[in-house]
Order: sequence, then structure tokens, then C-alpha cells
Amino acid sequence: MIDFIDPIYILTILFFVLALQRMSDPKTARSGIVYAGAAMLVAVLVTFFVPGIGNLPWIVVGTAVGGFLGFYAAKRVKMTDMPQMVAIFNGMGGGAAASIAAVELVAYTESTGFLSLAVAGGLIGSVSFSGSVIAFLKLQGWMTQRSVTFPGQQPTNIAVLVVAGISGGLLLVFAGGFWLWPFFLLALGYGILMTLPIGGADMPVVISMYNALTGVAVALDGFALVDTSAGAAAYAMIIAGTLVGAAGSFLTIVMARAMNRSLANVLFAAYGAKVEEGGTVSGALKPIDIDDAAVMMAYASKVIITPGYGMAVAQAQQKVKELMDALESKGVTVKFGIHPVAGRMPGHMNVLLAEAGVPYDRLFDQEEINPEFPSADVVVVIGANDVVNPAARRAGSPLQGMPILDVDRSKNVLVLKRGQGKGFAGIENELFYKDNARLLYGDAQETVAKLVQAIKKL
Ligand code: NDP
Repeated sequence: MIDFIDPIYILTILFFVLALQRMSDPKTARSGIVYAGAAMLVAVLVTFFVPGIGNLPWIVVGTAVGGFLGFYAAKRVKMTDMPQMVAIFNGMGGGAAASIAAVELVAYTESTGFLSLAVAGGLIGSVSFSGSVIAFLKLQGWMTQRSVTFPGQQPTNIAVLVVAGISGGLLLVFAGGFWLWPFFLLALGYGILMTLPIGGADMPVVISMYNALTGVAVALDGFALVDTSAGAAAYAMIIAGTLVGAAGSFLTIVMARAMNRSLANVLFAAYGAKVEEGGTVSGALKPIDIDDAAVMMAYASKVIITPGYGMAVAQAQQKVKELMDALESKGVTVKFGIHPVAGRMPGHMNVLLAEAGVPYDRLFDQEEINPEFPSADVVVVIGANDVVNPAARRAGSPLQGMPILDVDRSKNVLVLKRGQGKGFAGIENELFYKDNARLLYGDAQETVAKLVQAIKKL
């Protein structure tokens, strides 16, 4: 082995750790992504110098095709389509981990101990790959976003997982061969079956969980490779995989907590659960015009803005920052209430508002802001729906148990939305019919721009 290769792998490992540390703060997160990307690029390039590396033309073609597709997709993707891109890129990681395991298992040159790690990596990587593909299809709207259930689903899923595990065991006993096929097919099938019953509103937790599983699969592959010529590359896989697995697991738990649910409940609650589709609403929708809304806000002493997915669709974040400035110039205290799953990916609202220059000290998470709603004169709901739906407090609702922003407890609520569109969970929102709620119809970007003008004139 050439001397410089292993130290470079070690250096990339250090950069992965540093990158993750930088991602923990929004101010340094962007540079964290750059560090991680640069480290990965170096790790890939240095691999070409590993002595005895075979199939170079294939590797070059694969890297070029994958690199081009990834670059093109990331450049073209709309901000609103980001979650499904995260899902599919993550799935590719799981697929790559499963493929590495498959190569090890086909070659069958290592001891059973190391190969059993490859079996575990292959199982987890395959589940993550096919599960992420289903998550992508659901979020992209290429298949139903609702929970897909059928009689006997849970026993079927358990049986598929158990038989996949048995095939993995037989694969080790009989030195690969025929058993590779049922093993990988059943593992892929389990990923599909496990994701089908999970409804749209739970997708963020699931994407995050598959992200963690991909990390675990990569780490297991790394352990399976330590005894081979892979050298320090195996350690890079172990450490990078463990980092992703640990960070992804934490994020999964934090998100499940944000919905006040256990992970098991998110994953298995759809089985046989009966939830009401509609919910009860009473009262009438009460529209308001721009001028009245502007007066209401400009003469308030405290305004809380709660953004949601609609703000991302309308790309209204810049105008929202101007609204904050206009109100503050009138002496109004402005705060933002950010729900952990507002939008379509973790941190969606924080990223958009940071991009528009809203200072971090104006952003408050759900636990911090909820006690403040009763003292707010006006809450402006910009394109949020599920995360402010009081139905979540009621047993039997599809949103049951999801902690919400208690905007209905404020003095006045202004809801900016285009029409009668429902939220991601597809249910009616009782908030819009409450006595203290007024609806301001139109695209959020245009509406907020008009509000800014109207407030400036007052
Ligand atoms: P919702 O999807 O519940 O509601 C979006 C609202 O925005 C709708 O009321 C819609 O009404 C309105 N809207 C859409 N486009 C515009 C526009 N151009 N201008 C103004 N309003 C618009 O969003 P929330 O953020 O409240 O909730 C997020 C949901 O997504 C949750 O159920 C969450 O679990 C789920 N989810 C979250 C993920 C995450 O990681 N954060 C990932 C995947 C799903 P109308 O059509 O009438 O305009």
C-alpha cells in the first residue's frame, strides 16, 4: 500500500467529525456541508491510488454517471421538493452499502465472523434502499401519500423479515450461492412493506430513520472490510457510518418526540388503527382584506408569525423578513414560532428564514413559544395548517398526539392561504372556523408584499 493513502483517509475521517460538529449550529451548518462534501471527494479520489484496484473503467463510468446525476438533480431541485431528494439520495447510500455487502458475500473470501457483518449490512442497507424509494414515491406524489394497509399486514411483514434473516444464516452456512437471491429480495421486500403503511404526516421521521439505518449499514460494511486490503478506507466507513447512524438516530427520536409519539407508534400505528377522516368543524370562515389586516398588525404590541409549508411553496421568506422589519419600525415586537415538522423536512422553516436574513434570536421553537400565544395580539399563520390544527388535541384525529403551536389561544389569528386547500394530513382545520380567526386569501408572497405596503402607509 502506498504510504500517503492511509493518512489521507484518516484526515477525511477528521473532516467528517468536524463537518458534523459544524452542522449542529445554523450559523456554521453551510460550511459543515462543504467540509463533508470535500472530505468525501478526497476519499473517493484517493481510492483510485489504492494498489491492485481492479475494474478501473467501470469505476470511472459509475462515478461519472452517479456524479453527474447527483449534481444535476441537486442543481435543479426546487426547495419544496428537497425532502424527496433527501429520501432518494439517502436510499442510494443504503443501496451502495447493500451492494458492498453483496460483493463481499459473492467473493466469500473472509471468515464467517466478518461475513456475518456483511449479512447484517446487506439486510439493513437493502431495507433502507427500498424503504427510501417508497418514501420518495410518496413525497413526490407518484403514489398515494396515504397509509397503505391490507389484512394480515403485520404478520406478513414479520414473516418476510424472519425468512430474510434465515436466508442470511443459510447464506453463511452454504457459502453464498443460491441463498443470496432470497436474502436480498426479501430484505428489499421488507423495506417496501414496512414503509407502505406509513402515512404522509409521519414521513419526516421515517426519512430520518432510514438515514440512520444507512449509516449503520455503512459502518457494518466497514467492520466487514477491516481484514481486507481496504485498509484505512474501512475505518473511514466505520466512523462516517457511525456518525450518520448516531446523528440520524438522535434526529429520529427528537422528531418522534416533537409529535409526542414513540418511534414504534410512528412505524406500526397504521396497522389496524381506525382514524376518522374528517373531524368536526363548526362556525363559518371569515375573510378579511389587506387594509384591515394591516391595521390589526401595525397597532398590535406583539405579533407572532408561524410559517409552514405554504411559505416555502410561495417562496415568501424574503417578504416575510420585510414584514418583520415594517412591523418593528412601528414599535411592534415580532417573534417567529417554528414547529419542528413545519414544512416538508427538518429545519425547513429555519433554513428559509435564515436565507432571508431573519436573525436567529427571533426564532422560537414550539415549547418556547406556546406559553406566549395568550399574550399575542395577532398571530400570522403563513401557509401552515397541520402544525396549528387544534384537532391534534382530540382523540381519534389523524393528527392525535402531535404537539401543535397553540395559535388558537391568541387574541387574533390571521391565516394566509390561497383557498380551501387542506394540510399534508388531508383533514379540515378547526382553527380557521374559530371566532378569533380571519382568513386572508391569496398566494403568500403576494399577500405579504401587499401587507408590507399597507403597513408602511399607516
Ligand atoms: P401543511 O402541508 O399542513 O399546510 C400547508 C398550507 O399552506 C395549506 O393550508 C395550504 O393551503 C397553504 N399553501 C400552500 N401553498 C400556498 C401558497 N402559495 N400561498 C399561501 N398558502 C399556501 O403545512 P405545515 O407546515 O403546517 O405542516 C407540515 C406537514 O407536513 C405536517 O403534517 C408534517 O408532519 C408533514 N411533513 C413534514 C415534514 C418535515 O420534515 N417537516 C416532511 C414531510 C411531511 P392552500 O392550498 O389553501 O393555499
